[in-house]
Amino acid sequence: MVACWYDPTTSFQIQGIFGFAFSESFHRYYWVERWKKGGGGVIKEAEKSFSDFLEKKDLKLTSQRRTILHQAIHANGHFSAEKLLEFSKKADRTISKATVYRTLVLLKESKVLEEQDFGDGKKLYERAQGRKHHDHFICVRCGKIIEFENDHIEKLQDAEASHHHFKVVYHSLKLFGFCKNCS
Ligand SMILES: [Zn+2]
Ligand SMILES: [Zn+2]
Repeated sequence: MVACWYDPTTSFQIQGIFGFAFSESFHRYYWVERWKKGGGGVIKEAEKSFSDFLEKKDLKLTSQRRTILHQAIHANGHFSAEKLLEFSKKADRTISKATVYRTLVLLKESKVLEEQDFGDGKKLYERAQGRKHHDHFICVRCGKIIEFENDHIEKLQDAEASHHHFKVVYHSLKLFGFCKNCS
């Protein structure tokens, strides 16, 4: 996975530098590019597992839930509940805050999204389904998040766990510091 240097959560900073218009059009561009690279397949996959999950709970993939799901997948990266609300409202004005928050819980439960706490107590979400495990570098100054995968680190963690007779269920490695722009 390539390091995601553009992240919706840092859009504030980008907006501050380049103005809102740039940030907006760049976001659109990013979506379209992702879509061309098979984003449509990702959406279909996510829709399928989300609707399967909802069915087990006797719930339906309503048009609002579908819109929120689409926005979450399109947001691509690490985004807050507030951002998802903002994107969802842009797509459908009738979507309420309560619906977004309740759908977010369902998306988390269904494992389509993963919730992450990146240190400041603020929860961010990212797509989990259909993605390989990865860990994160977090810039403590600008909030930029860089993803990485390292098999060597993964194996070291496994070896350490078995040394302690510890069965790891999941892990999330986060390294805090300063990004290239901030150091
Ligand atoms: Zn930074
Ligand atoms: Zn991530």
